Amino acid sequence: MPPATQDQPQRVPEAGAAFDAIIVGAGFAGMYMLHRLRGLGFAARAYEAGGGVGGTWYWNRYPGARCDVESMQYSFSFSEELDQQWDWSEKYAPQSEILSYANHVADRFDLRRHILFDTRVTAATFDETAKCWRIETDRGDKVSAKFCIMAVGCLSAANHVPFEGREDFQGPIYHTGEWPHEGVDFTGLRVGVIGTGSSAIQSIPIIAEQASALTVFQRTATYTVPAWNEKLTPEYRNAIKADYPALRAKARARPTGFYFPFNMKPALEATPEQRTRQYEEAWQRGGLPFLGAYGDLLFEKAANDTIAEFARDKIRSIVRDPATAELLCPHNVFGCKRLCVDTGYFDTYNLPHVKLVDVSKTPIERFTSGGIEVNGTEYPLDAIVCATGFAAMTGSFDRIAITGRDGRTLAEKWRGGPRAYLGVATAGFPNLFTITGPGSPSVLASMIQAIEQHVDWMADCMAHMRDIGAATIEPVEAYEDDWVEHVNEVSKVSLRSTCSSWYVGANIPGRPRVFMPYIGGFPVYVQKCNEVMTNGFEGFVMEGGDIGNEMPRVRLTERWRVPLDIEVISPAAVAARRVPVV
Ligand code: FAD
Ligand code: NAP
Repeated sequence: MPPATQDQPQRVPEAGAAFDAIIVGAGFAGMYMLHRLRGLGFAARAYEAGGGVGGTWYWNRYPGARCDVESMQYSFSFSEELDQQWDWSEKYAPQSEILSYANHVADRFDLRRHILFDTRVTAATFDETAKCWRIETDRGDKVSAKFCIMAVGCLSAANHVPFEGREDFQGPIYHTGEWPHEGVDFTGLRVGVIGTGSSAIQSIPIIAEQASALTVFQRTATYTVPAWNEKLTPEYRNAIKADYPALRAKARARPTGFYFPFNMKPALEATPEQRTRQYEEAWQRGGLPFLGAYGDLLFEKAANDTIAEFARDKIRSIVRDPATAELLCPHNVFGCKRLCVDTGYFDTYNLPHVKLVDVSKTPIERFTSGGIEVNGTEYPLDAIVCATGFAAMTGSFDRIAITGRDGRTLAEKWRGGPRAYLGVATAGFPNLFTITGPGSPSVLASMIQAIEQHVDWMADCMAHMRDIGAATIEPVEAYEDDWVEHVNEVSKVSLRSTCSSWYVGANIPGRPRVFMPYIGGFPVYVQKCNEVMTNGFEGFVMEGGDIGNEMPRVRLTERWRVPLDIEVISPAAVAARRVPVV
């Protein structure tokens, strides 16, 4: 019998139950899928490895964790009542508030009773005779379902770097993505933080407030823009709520799926003085929209150099010790790795007890019993925080034994990099859907919007299959190949494809180097998905049922059929539209 856990008592494994759909994961993706499928009358069950809903916001409880897409947009848009009744307290809500929101959504839409928590799906095998998925969990459950929906998250498989001597270290080792629920008190401790990505830059200033000494081990310096986070006033919230649907619609028309002022003019056509003024204004607004200062920043290296130099000058003006400031100055393409948004990150290095250690040329050699050794020097530590990120996009798929037709595993198929049609499904794995899967805008868009669009499309597809009695759906390999090729081609338009980021799997040795998300822009992608649906799921093959190429009955996807807003489409999106797809 599966053991009892903190949140779930011992329970008898479920054997033989059959569902219409099994959903793996109960973050925002799994929750919304569950809501939609239940609403359409499907028998759906979700399994969640964690003890509660919320996914990212359930696991990432490190100090300072918060969203970096403004809360009023980093939220579900499918329910006007929810939008109207929920009040975000800050411009960028803290983790605890986003988790409360996830719990509120679960209760409000009565999702909890269809989710089994503390249960990790370990295997999913397609039964070709019965045309269903056979699912196994780490608690001994063996169930089946017509559809298997992977809502496992793009950033959910923590990257535990196998540092030598890890077992020798006598103090606690934490990973930001698996933070203890009871919190950690670093008061009076000598703390080491490994990494300078988004999780590190959010947590470092707060850990520094508590620790007696903080040592940051930096492999690659990071570009980060101030959040200028603030409390939201009722007036501000009410102004948005007065016409929330308008903001949501504007967001959908944007390449990123969220709305912010964007200047399409090229940086290289401005004078240096004009550019400085423009960057300064954008810096004062802060956050990810800083990249919207000009239209060519991610496409022209010379333009990018201007914003990179502006950002380096900011670092030099904040950090008082010139050697530390230089070490903190990145020299790669600005925005190539995911841009960070911080509160007081660079100021932290002015504190006397904060030290920066460069591990770019001399990597961390080993953990010792009392610290971390680099280049022959031991840095004494009482606790270590690994802010080392995730096996992004495909890491959580790798941790499940997924077997499709002819006994072929997904791991085998994706060995050279993930292959999926529109990022929603992959040939040879019928009735398997992947929410924000590789090859879709996913992490390059505001993810909740990307999730909602995928779920609505998939739920419409499943309902259509029920309408016509189809047994299976899967992509035609030739269409999938063309899409993968297109995703790859479009990525080359952007400077983002040029550096060793987690977007290309380069943060973890041995992973294939493939630009995994679709960079052509959210609205262009949505239009493609809509066309595929309108053309009777073009590029997919369905088996069984009364199959014609007639227009499927669109139940949920309608709200994504917004006209393209050409004015604000990024050059990548324009390029994407020029590249013939299929
Ligand atoms: P997740 O939230 O990752 O949920 C996936 C769930 O699947 C997890 O709970 C996991 O336990 C479960 N799971 C995985 N494998 C299994 C299995 N085999 N069996 C059972 N359960 C399984 N995006 C933005 O757009 N804006 C932001 O501001 C933003 N901030 C972020 C901050 C942090 C710290 C991180 C890490 C990510 C952030 N993201 C942000 C991305 C974020 O992941 C998405 O916005 C969103 O929360 C993803 O939801 P999801 O449901 O797809 O995946
Ligand atoms: P990350 O961006 O991948 O950063 C990991 C850090 O660890 C990098 O600095 C990396 O250095 C370093 N690292 C990895 N292995 C190392 C090693 N062996 N030795 C030394 N350093 C090593 O991970 P993350 O910060 O968790 O963020 C991941 C993503 O989650 C973000 O990009 C973002 O999309 C999302 N996120 C968002 C927020 C937010 O603000 N809302 C907060 C956290 C996370 P290299 O750069 O050299 O690889």
